[in-house]
Amino acid sequence: MFSRELELRGRAFVNYQALSGVEVKDMTIDGFPAKLFFNPARVRSVMADVSPEALQKRACFLCPDGLELNQLTTVWDSPTGQTYFIRVNPFPIFNHHFTISSAIHERQTFAPHMESMLHLAQAMPEMSIFYNGPMCGASAPDHMHFQAVPRHSMPIEDHFDTNYANAVLVQESDLQSHLAALKKVLSMASIPENASQTGSLTAGASRTEEWEPRWNIISWYEPESSASVVSDLQGKARSTGASDLQPTGRSYNTIVFFRKESRPQCFFAPENERILFSPGTVEMGGVGIVANRESFDRITPRVLRSMIQEVADKIV
Ligand SMILES: [Zn+2]
Repeated sequence: MFSRELELRGRAFVNYQALSGVEVKDMTIDGFPAKLFFNPARVRSVMADVSPEALQKRACFLCPDGLELNQLTTVWDSPTGQTYFIRVNPFPIFNHHFTISSAIHERQTFAPHMESMLHLAQAMPEMSIFYNGPMCGASAPDHMHFQAVPRHSMPIEDHFDTNYANAVLVQESDLQSHLAALKKVLSMASIPENASQTGSLTAGASRTEEWEPRWNIISWYEPESSASVVSDLQGKARSTGASDLQPTGRSYNTIVFFRKESRPQCFFAPENERILFSPGTVEMGGVGIVANRESFDRITPRVLRSMIQEVADKIV
């Protein structure tokens, strides 16, 4: 599907070609590796106005009528009975980047689609599936969608630290246990009472309706082979009495980032100090994306760290 779409030489072709010219800064934040990408083609996502008024005015780009010219669709039926459309993301961050949207135009809500996300992860084990909450990086909060990017694109997948204050990692070997554990984690979050920003591009605009807590979520699946190596090791450890050997992997893996703010204050600062940074899952996972040169130049590891801290919420 990916190569077929690029052969059509539409928007995706142009933007995937441009990816090779993206500038990257490598950073270390509190000992964790992070990256900053300067990707001018992402301006539509970074500057997405997701206020209800703006959404009403634009055509939905995840519905069949709003597609780019030459955009292909693969239909995926989830074992849950829900149907999704898989498409190449015409505004990529990584060299393979898909959107997986509900076949129905329904607002971005995680709970009813949580199980499908895990089935998707299993169906695409070479990809990480992620979800941006309506106020947390989603450019189309009015249409339920996930995104998929190659595994290990986000440093957090390989560097999760249990002391990480703003996120929880859930790992289980079977789907039902994973769902139960994940529901428990999600129940710790609530819709923020006094979060200051709405989805509007203007700071301090009046609050809009919110229907779920603010979060970013990544799931991936370790195929049987690598997961069973871990259980074999555990089995051996038990039989040799080395009981302190901990499992390092499970079939189903999900990280939930809790969020407080939609965008950092510097997004709304005067022109000469403004940083256009609109964090979603990818940013929370250690890859910052900016679409203009000034923001790219202004972000140092210290600035990136403080912007992430500003939008992240502590686990209750
Ligand atoms: Zn739609």
